[in-house]
Amino acid sequence: MLTLQDIHKSYGKDEVLKGISLQVNQGDVVSVLGPSGSGKTTLLRCVNLLEKPNKGTITIDGVSVNAEKLTRKDTLRLRRKTAMVFQSYNLFANKTALENVMEALVVVQKMKTAEARKKSLALLEKIGLAVKADHYPAQLSGGQQQRVGIARALALDPEVILFDEPTSALDPELVGEVLEVIRNIAREGVTMMIVTHELSFARDISNHIVFMEKGLIVEQGLPQQLFNEPKHERTKEFIRSRV
Ligand code: ATP
Repeated sequence: MLTLQDIHKSYGKDEVLKGISLQVNQGDVVSVLGPSGSGKTTLLRCVNLLEKPNKGTITIDGVSVNAEKLTRKDTLRLRRKTAMVFQSYNLFANKTALENVMEALVVVQKMKTAEARKKSLALLEKIGLAVKADHYPAQLSGGQQQRVGIARALALDPEVILFDEPTSALDPELVGEVLEVIRNIAREGVTMMIVTHELSFARDISNHIVFMEKGLIVEQGLPQQLFNEPKHERTKEFIRSRV
């Protein structure tokens, strides 16, 4: 349901993605691992066109766009199939937790306020933050803010949720609560693509692991295969260095 074909991305002369092809099926939880600078975040941002690839095709749920012939309409159509959870939460500081979750429902999806409020409250309940509905981001811990970020992504009922290092800005003691929320929604069959440095979490939650280096997919496969019997020397080294 999400297909990337030969995605290339350069910043100036620096080719950061050198031809990435990947298939993510409905209900898949795909984690993207790799050393710093390998292009993981750039790849994720290309999926929803926050970064424009120089070349390649992205198809999500029947909507297919060619990077070289991108129109604004294509960009919006594709973006609406996705939701992103950012490393730095990106909540509106002047809106409460509830208003943050409601925002896109009301503004983008034109849902009636009462309905949006009901749906958003149910999502806050699901992530264990209904009691904080009227708190502003500054009144929440980093972990709570990120959980609101996840509720906001879920509100849109996207085909795929893109997680960009969702726990890397958090104090270590707050990482667990966010991973637990992600784990719970994965169990419900939500399709996800996750860029993460949390190897044991990735191993545990994913049904497919992608290992990237220098803008290419070096190896991909089932978690047990990639972690226990990596084929490529670079994958072996990477895993050895992290455990
Ligand atoms: P990390 O694990 O450290 O977050 P990553 O694998 O996610 O790394 P990216 O953030 O995708 O890597 O970056 C890949 C390369 O692209 C890096 O060399 C980075 O400096 C470069 N890069 C990323 N964004 C930009 C940008 N907006 N302008 C110029 N170069 C960029």
